[in-house]
Order: sequence, then C-alpha cells, then structure tokens
Amino acid sequence: MVSVRANALVGPDLEFVEDVRFQIGTDGTIIDVSKEEKPTKYLLPSSYILIPGFVNAHVHVGDAYIKDKTYGLTLDEAVGSTGVKHKKLSSSTTEEIITSIRNSLEMQVNNGFTSFVDFREGGLQGINLLKESLIDFPIRGVILGRPYNDDSLAAISKQSDGIGFPDIFSLNDVLCEEANAIKENTVGQLNAIHVSESLEVISRSLTSYGKRDIKIALEKLDLDFVIHATYADKSDLQSLKQNNVGVVCCPLTSLYHGLDFPPLEAIIDEGILLGLGTDNVFCCNPDPFRLMAFTLYNARSSNQHVTPKNMLKALTVNPGLMTKSKIGQLSIGYSGDFLGFDLNNPNLKFSKDVYTALTMRATSADIGFHMYKGRLVKWEYQK
Ligand SMILES: [Zn+2]
Repeated sequence: MVSVRANALVGPDLEFVEDVRFQIGTDGTIIDVSKEEKPTKYLLPSSYILIPGFVNAHVHVGDAYIKDKTYGLTLDEAVGSTGVKHKKLSSSTTEEIITSIRNSLEMQVNNGFTSFVDFREGGLQGINLLKESLIDFPIRGVILGRPYNDDSLAAISKQSDGIGFPDIFSLNDVLCEEANAIKENTVGQLNAIHVSESLEVISRSLTSYGKRDIKIALEKLDLDFVIHATYADKSDLQSLKQNNVGVVCCPLTSLYHGLDFPPLEAIIDEGILLGLGTDNVFCCNPDPFRLMAFTLYNARSSNQHVTPKNMLKALTVNPGLMTKSKIGQLSIGYSGDFLGFDLNNPNLKFSKDVYTALTMRATSADIGFHMYKGRLVKWEYQK
C-alpha cells in the first residue's frame, strides 16, 4: 500500500482541499481520503497541488507516423476514406504501426495523461497491437474498436471496451442491432460515433436520410457519447441531453482542418457531459496543457463563456463518467492516478487562481509528481 499527501483537487467537482492524504490499495485504487495525521510515503511540499491524471477523451494513437503531412489539406483529403491517413494505414507494415502507436503512448505519458479513449482502426489486429504496446507504458487505454473486414462485431467487442463507429454512413441496420444487443448484454460496453464534424456531413445526411446525422445516430444506436458535434444545433443538443449522451469536442483538430470552433458553452448549458480530446496525433500532439489553453483562448475569442474548471473537468472527471470507468477523479474507489504540480514553479508562481494556472500556464515540464495506479512514474525529489 502507498500513500500521498498534499493540497489537492478532490472529488467529482475538483474541489480544492488543503493538506489531504490519499491511501492507495494494493490493487491501485484509492481506498481512503482523509485529513487525519498518519505516516505518509510521499509527503509533498506545501506548495504542491495534486490533481487526477488527465484522461484524453478522444485520440487515434495509430496515426502519429504521418505527423505534419496534411497541414493545409481539407478534412476529406486528410482523413477521408481515400485520404492521406487511410492510404498510409492500409499500406503500412505491422512494425510501422507499432512504432507509431508507441510514439503516441510515450507522448501521452510524458504529457500527463494516465488514460485515453482510442478510436482504434484495423479491427481485431489493431486492437491487439495497441494492447501489446500498452504493457510497456504506465497508461490505460479505453479501446473502442470498429467493424473491419471479416472480424465479427462480437469478437471486436470482446477484445475491446466497445465500438467507435467512424460516422453514420458506415452504419447499417444489422450492425446497429448487433451493437445495441451487445451493449445491452455486456456490462461496461461502450458505443460512440463521430458526428457533425463538418457541414458536409450534415448536408450528406440530410440528402441521404432527410435528417441531420446526430438524429440518425441517436435513432440507430444506443450511444454513450459522440465525438465532435462541432455543427450541432440547439435541437441536436437537446436530443443528446434527452438520451443522456455525452459529447467529446476536439477543438485543436477542428481548427487544424479549417473547421469551426465547437459550441462548448451551449453543450455545457444544455447539461451535457463535455469531454475534450486531442484527436489525430498527426494533426497535433496529445498534450492536455496545449489543448486546455488553446480552448480557453479560442472560447474567449468566440464569445463563449467557459471556465478553466470546465476545461479541467473535460479532461479528467467527465471522460471518466462518460466511459463509466473509475478514473478521472480523486475519490474513494477510483484509480490512484495522480499528477502533482509545484505552484512555486516559475510558470505558476503568483497565480491568483489555481484552475487558471493549471489550464493556461502549466506545461508538462511542471509535472513534478506522477503516479499511475498507485505506482510512481515520476517524483522530482526522488530522481
Ligand atoms: Zn476521431
């Protein structure tokens, strides 16, 4: 058993609590949170603050090896079925894909992610490549596979945490019924899908189905969350809320592809659980600090009111709730995944608000303490 003590952002609301002790059990989960005086293995200086390890709510870890090959291209040219990404994926050797995955995992660990939700390409083989790579890294992958070649949906679901559908145009009635039945009969099984990433997707949906794609996705699938929803309108958001479906936005990749900034304030105001993801690694590095700061600056410039705490939750608590996993918050029963920051570091010193300091000023170089499932990854005083 291991214990750590410092000021911390505790529970589902990331409440600031001074001088609190976490006891982590042998299985890596937090078993006690208290202010009692007890011997503690990692007693952090009083200038430190502990937060939950970051959860990347949406990423494609397999595409790191085409970094910076697509800047300036359209969404379709970059990630369409005949675009740069899928051409490369379908012509790559297994070794190339493994190298690409490992690069993404290494970046995520270095940047403070302790969990990520991957939309995994390549069917069963793709899932297994990621699982084998994960053994060597202190990070958890929530893996959403996708239908591929002759691999059955049942087999993909069994090997993964659920299904991440590319878009509504990849759906058919048999596939959806099967995915919904698997979800109904399997505890923890997740269904998610990319929606309304561009205006083209919505107009194609209107032409093919006479309805917007979010409506079609909700009609066909029992969903836990959707990705993007950049062009969701009020009625789309109301439907998502009614169906208790979360939304994961990826502002960095939206702007990379020349698309609009997502309607974060409207999503939050609707009472929808909001997550943030770094999305395709070839577009931008999986870096929570860059994502949070970029999002806050852009929200401000687009007259959207979102707070630093909203951003911090969208990369910790909310993706944990969306994936129904005991991750993303410092509460009893949750995984002992911690990051510690010294608020006296030059980047953070003199800040009058800890949530703003962490989201708009901190960088990965400010992570002084890093723990995954109760196992130490980094502690600057123990080099
Ligand atoms: Zn995606």
